[in-house]
Amino acid sequence: MKHNWKIGFVAGITLLLPLVLATTTLTTANAANKTTTSKTAKKAKAKAKPKAKKHYLIVMGHGAGDPGARGNGTTEATFLRKHMLPQLRKYAKKVKGSTITFYNPKKNLVSDTLYHHKGSYKLNKKTTVIMFHLDAPAGHGGHVIIHKKHPTKRDRRLAKVIKKYVGLNRAYNGFSYRTNLRNCNVLRHRGIDYSLVESGFITNKNDVKHLKKHMAKIAKADIEAITNEKIK
Ligand SMILES: [Zn+2]
Repeated sequence: MKHNWKIGFVAGITLLLPLVLATTTLTTANAANKTTTSKTAKKAKAKAKPKAKKHYLIVMGHGAGDPGARGNGTTEATFLRKHMLPQLRKYAKKVKGSTITFYNPKKNLVSDTLYHHKGSYKLNKKTTVIMFHLDAPAGHGGHVIIHKKHPTKRDRRLAKVIKKYVGLNRAYNGFSYRTNLRNCNVLRHRGIDYSLVESGFITNKNDVKHLKKHMAKIAKADIEAITNEKIK
């Protein structure tokens, strides 16, 4: 078909103009809608209760008159409090996604539980308990005492830390499922999640040497293993 372009142009502009205007109006309306939606979403987010952080209670074994195992001129209670506790505290402060507290180091969780019916009987059931100990009388390496037949992911991470810095006790290859520890059984029966870390033998010169030498790295790695959070 032959076409007069002048008439066509004018007609085209006349036809297009309302369309352009309509599109502009629509876009503005859409933008307004979007703003309202995101505002509503933000309000809902602010209203939703922040998820309670996971709580971990770290317990240094023995203390309060119970020295625990002896070796290399020290005791389990002293070594754990003097060398390990300050480092664990330091890295526990850097964790953002969980809350970590420490059982009063002047106290002894086991005797508090078994002789005073406090300790493990009084803990919140949602708390996860991580207990640190050192082994005796003779051997090398550490392991994690677990409360189910199979280790949890956290147990596996904790065992990796031992393996890296001290070595694993060959007798257990990382994990030992125990049901004859009375304090732990209180936790188990109350449905409280826990891991008991035997970091090495206090009677083994090499184990103690490695523990002392790498204590800062071990503590950092342990806190990361417990919380599954990378510390910068
Ligand atoms: Zn112990």
